[in-house]
Amino acid sequence: MGNINENARCLIIGSGPAGYTAAIYAARADLKPIVYQGLQPGGQLTITTDVDNYPGYPEGIKGPEMMENLRKQAERFGTDIRFGIVTKVDFSSKPFRVEADDDRIISAETVIIATGASARWLGLESEKNFRGMGVSACATCDGFFYRGQDVAIVGGGDTAAEEATYLAKLCKKVYMIHRRDTLRASKAMQHKVLTTPNIELIWDSVPVEILGDTSGVTGLLVRNMKDQKERKINVTGFFVAIGHTPNSEIFRGQLDMNEQGYIKTIPGSAKTSVDGVFACGDVQDHYYRQAITAAGTGCMAAIEAERFLGSRKG
Ligand code: FAD
Ligand code: NAP
Repeated sequence: MGNINENARCLIIGSGPAGYTAAIYAARADLKPIVYQGLQPGGQLTITTDVDNYPGYPEGIKGPEMMENLRKQAERFGTDIRFGIVTKVDFSSKPFRVEADDDRIISAETVIIATGASARWLGLESEKNFRGMGVSACATCDGFFYRGQDVAIVGGGDTAAEEATYLAKLCKKVYMIHRRDTLRASKAMQHKVLTTPNIELIWDSVPVEILGDTSGVTGLLVRNMKDQKERKINVTGFFVAIGHTPNSEIFRGQLDMNEQGYIKTIPGSAKTSVDGVFACGDVQDHYYRQAITAAGTGCMAAIEAERFLGSRKG
């Protein structure tokens, strides 16, 4: 097979804000980190335009540019950044065994998991075409761009409910489209949604097409699942909030996770159920899901990895 065996003090899986921040700290602590970037070098922010809420950029910054900066900063301190995917891990004994698709088998003393999460999409062609041009999966990130406008959101869970109420504070009107006649969201969130005057629920319905032109989204075609009738609503923004999937499949059975597959960390730390394995960013956080919180927990993971290695020596 031509496998290459090597040793690493600190192996980081993922190259979003969490992975690169962990790399900056680990490299500066002389852990000589190796980063596997995965299929999406730079992570989720590489598919967005303006990032206006990351501290330190008074004029905002483009997502891809910000991630390029983070990569360069990690490289500046000697991080070994590799284009490749981690395909298999074995955390049952130390050092941990990690396999990547570049034929490397790495014996790692510590592993930092920063594989993020992926938003679920409806799967419509028009949804793909207008992504970043009116279609978004993050109201906290993009809601601001639709101030004073009419928008729609699809989903009936807590995320959709929370994002709908967030959008209602910024936007003129929010259409909340749900495929059933009862919300999945908690009673408290349901109450908020149902008592917010500028949120209109469109029950038993699904979006079937996002309408628009070169300027972006102009409307939405919505089908009622009971009578199959379609109606058009005029909106300039469309938010998809039908859940996220944490990228944790390869760790299943090796680390404690919640029922949705988010890796469990000890509160207030990046420690997982296996000593020496740390998790940071969206793969362990279904709640905040922001670049700054991902970076913050990446920093925590690297400091904890350094202390873990230090405590073993002493
Ligand atoms: P991610 O950014 O998801 O990165 C995960 C990394 O893991 C990727 O590099 C991927 O290739 C890698 N990976 C996955 N599996 C493997 C594997 N098996 N082997 C190796 N590598 C692997 N947040 C904000 O704060 N402000 C914003 O304005 C903002 N805008 C957003 C706009 C959009 C469209 C989206 C989708 C998200 C936005 N977010 C924003 C949220 C933010 O992008 C995420 O919270 C953040 O990127 C999470 O960082 P992360 O490092 O945990 O994971
Ligand atoms: P979720 O609970 O899985 O809800 C997803 C919603 O999207 C459901 O209403 C679902 O409809 C709908 N949906 C799924 N696929 C769809 C499709 N293809 N077309 C149309 N609609 C679709 O996801 P979530 O809201 O992101 O929440 C995830 C977890 O985080 C939950 O445990 C939630 O309680 C928690 N959370 C908590 C808070 C909080 O406490 N403040 C905030 C956010 C999230 P159905 O209902 O018909 O299945």
